[in-house]
Amino acid sequence: MIGIDNLSYWEKTAYLRNIDFLIIGSGVVGLSTSIFLKRKYKDARILIIERGYLPTGASTKNAGFSCFGSPTELYDDLKSMPEQKVWDTFSSRYMGLKRLFELVSKDAIAYEQCKSWDIIAENDSHNITNDFIKYINNEAKKLTGEENIYYEDPDISSQFGFEGVNTSYCNRLEGSIHTGKMIKELYKKAVSEDIIILFGINADSMEHSEKENTINTPYGQFKASNTIIATNGFAKQWIKDDVFPARAQVLITNEIKNLQVKGTFHYNKGYYYFRNVGNRILLGGGRNLNFQGETTQEFGLTKQIQDKLNELLQTVIIPNQSYKVEDTWSGIMGVGENKSPIIKKINNNTAVGVRMGGMGVALGSQVGKTISNLF
Ligand SMILES: Cc1cc2nc3c(=O)[nH]c(=O)nc-3n(C[C@H](O)[C@H](O)[C@H](O)COP(=O)(O)OP(=O)(O)OC[C@H]3O[C@@H](n4cnc5c(N)ncnc54)[C@H](O)[C@@H]3O)c2cc1C
Repeated sequence: MIGIDNLSYWEKTAYLRNIDFLIIGSGVVGLSTSIFLKRKYKDARILIIERGYLPTGASTKNAGFSCFGSPTELYDDLKSMPEQKVWDTFSSRYMGLKRLFELVSKDAIAYEQCKSWDIIAENDSHNITNDFIKYINNEAKKLTGEENIYYEDPDISSQFGFEGVNTSYCNRLEGSIHTGKMIKELYKKAVSEDIIILFGINADSMEHSEKENTINTPYGQFKASNTIIATNGFAKQWIKDDVFPARAQVLITNEIKNLQVKGTFHYNKGYYYFRNVGNRILLGGGRNLNFQGETTQEFGLTKQIQDKLNELLQTVIIPNQSYKVEDTWSGIMGVGENKSPIIKKINNNTAVGVRMGGMGVALGSQVGKTISNLF
């Protein structure tokens, strides 16, 4: 292994000298932060280090919902959080999507405003009333300018072929993206703006001084005037705040002939989520079956959760169709008791932007913008 000290003069001067901002983590937050910093400081030398050969957290592994708030989630949040905070969170997700589209084109990331539905199963109890829908439409209009974002859609089963569904609530503005393309586009944008991204380098620890930080890696020490920690589910190493890892498991089926399902769907208060990807179904969730076991930084799948996902496919989503599971994977999110992201400086030249929860697609770019404003 050639360490940093043994690199050539050319390598050191082209890649590693005089780094103004070193960002740890190349997910949606790390990449967006780098681009917004570059917009603010045109001559800044910005370096991202990423431990994986691809981003290895959540940004390339998620379900690709461009979501900002479903009725059952809003209902639960309003019970457990101050009203203002709920609508602030809603607003930052909604604005976050707009920010994302400032950085990448909708076409390039296969964005579709395909709507989302919050499914209420036959045996689910719920408290969504017409008055509640009226209330959230009013509040949402104040923040988005959009009329009647939410409405009840009771005919969802005949439309999509579901079974065991009582009713549903639609959000007509939510949609889907190809999450791998999102990160690839952000990567291309960052590189085109002369941001350096090095993969396969783990930040082990950091020594802070007023003037610069020293980041220790298996290859040696990187020095930078400022550091941003964008490691989300792996943030515990750096800060003591309320953020912990949450694994989420996903499967995708083969192409299904005459698939009726089109759109993005939340089931059982969002503990399960599914969508079509062309003629395939992507389905994830089930952390509620074993919260403790899924509170981990280890990637992996469990039989318990995969079996439940298959059961949902067979009994609710595509009950009369045969299918094969073609791929399964997991990703690690950063979550906390508190749902809003942690964005702050932890000393004069180090900031963190973590705890994106299950909404990083919507939040990530806005968080990147906010971090850039801390410097
Ligand atoms: C299965 C799944 C489904 C999801 N579905 C959706 C969805 O549909 N819609 C939505 O909005 N959100 C969804 N999310 C959440 C969303 O993906 C995340 O909120 C978002 O990607 C977080 O982005 P990030 O940049 O903060 O973190 P990440 O993408 O996790 O990036 C952090 C990066 O830091 C790197 N890193 C960590 N430690 C170190 C270190 N010490 N040194 C160097 N590098 C390091 C990691 O390898 C990783 O690449 C889902 C998440 C999962 C797991």
